[in-house]
Amino acid sequence: MPRILIANRGEIAVRIIRACAQTGHTSIAVYADQDIEAMHTQLADEAHALPGTSAADTYLSIDALLAAARASDADAVHPGYGFLSENAEFAAAVKDAGLIWIGPTATTIRALGDKVTARRIAEKVGAPLAPGIDRPLAGAAEVEEFAAAHGLPIIIKAAHGGGGRGMKIVRDLAEAAEAFDSATREALEAFGRPECFVEKYLERPRHVEVQILGDGHGRTVAVGDRDCSAQRRNQKLIEEAPAPNLGHDQRERLHRAAEDICAAVDYRGAGTVEFLLAADGTMTFLEVNTRLQVEHPVTEAVSGVDLVAEQFRIAFDGELGLAATPEPRGHAIELRINAEDPGRGFLPTPGRIEALTVPGGPGVRWDAGVRSGDTVQAAFDSLFAKLIVHGPDRATAIARTLTAARELQVSGPATVLPCTLEILTDPAFASADLGIHTQWIESELMPRF
Ligand code: ADP
Repeated sequence: MPRILIANRGEIAVRIIRACAQTGHTSIAVYADQDIEAMHTQLADEAHALPGTSAADTYLSIDALLAAARASDADAVHPGYGFLSENAEFAAAVKDAGLIWIGPTATTIRALGDKVTARRIAEKVGAPLAPGIDRPLAGAAEVEEFAAAHGLPIIIKAAHGGGGRGMKIVRDLAEAAEAFDSATREALEAFGRPECFVEKYLERPRHVEVQILGDGHGRTVAVGDRDCSAQRRNQKLIEEAPAPNLGHDQRERLHRAAEDICAAVDYRGAGTVEFLLAADGTMTFLEVNTRLQVEHPVTEAVSGVDLVAEQFRIAFDGELGLAATPEPRGHAIELRINAEDPGRGFLPTPGRIEALTVPGGPGVRWDAGVRSGDTVQAAFDSLFAKLIVHGPDRATAIARTLTAARELQVSGPATVLPCTLEILTDPAFASADLGIHTQWIESELMPRF
């Protein structure tokens, strides 16, 4: 059985370690100095030190990770999410070292990581796509021409952008030249690549995404969809599956588009195709995330598919474990538990968790990287746990989520929970008919907070 090195930490490392135990694989954790007593370090079958305390020296260091893989005699590497999970160089280096990379090929990561190339692939397979210019812009004049032809608002985006950065919305033609200049400058600064492109901007859209599994030989299957519209500055706070209030034809269209986009690049492993849906029914392809997502458990809850086990099956046997999209059973909601203070602009609040009371009951799943007495480290992500709740229908899932969220007690760092509870109890969220859009938290909720 392949020995799997998990090039990550926190809750996702713990999630993967559990999947290793359940499928008979040896799990090998890696840890930065301050993670020597962390949950993932202790739960794994083996653990190897990554000397250092910064992300750059540890979980982001290709050299350190490959050295750990060699020292531990690993056969495969699972990158989790974040860190190097979408880094084509790391994927290539793992393969060159004779190890199995649990994810799509470096070529696929590169193609889909470039939003201009990804748009072209989406266009080729006939996916829903807002009008846009599918090549890097040569100058501001092109932005003005595009606006003249398609109308405002438009959005200028970095071709190699991520994390919601390097984007400029243009609502007034007079701002086009300045927006182009600053987008290009920011793209260069943040991502080392200046290329930008432009597309129509959809007002107050919902974020709907499709979970894909691919066998690497052109066979792909949509495992289901999720709604992740509850976001703050492009950071998701609550996710649910299936996406509520999606018509049968819309759902079919998104699932088939996601399958086709991934099939076009012989996608291997788990991936997510993101779309935006405007209130008038307009849909557009947004991007492909070439890794496991934070929110994958809501899809697991309603599909019954263990996505990490499926990643192993594809990586080691080259096979898909399912032939068609499963009919979703019930409804699932995930709350991200971040050490951030919503009362202070979501400022990170790292520190020791003095006490932790974890909720239970029917349909409750708790995925955490910490236990009582552990520390939420300042050097890494503020997300330290996820609460995933499943119910027979959306109303029951919301009621169960509220009960569980109120049972959850974290003493020590402030968390986003007070904000999350506000969202869950708001009629706009509770009524799927109204639905919330991606700007809702900032424009409607935060002013009240
Ligand atoms: P990133 O890779 O930085 O996350 P995305 O392309 O996924 O960039 O876009 C991030 C967010 O920006 C989206 O979730 C959406 O809220 C907003 N956005 C991007 N493109 C558009 C668009 N054409 N219309 C409206 N909003 C958009």
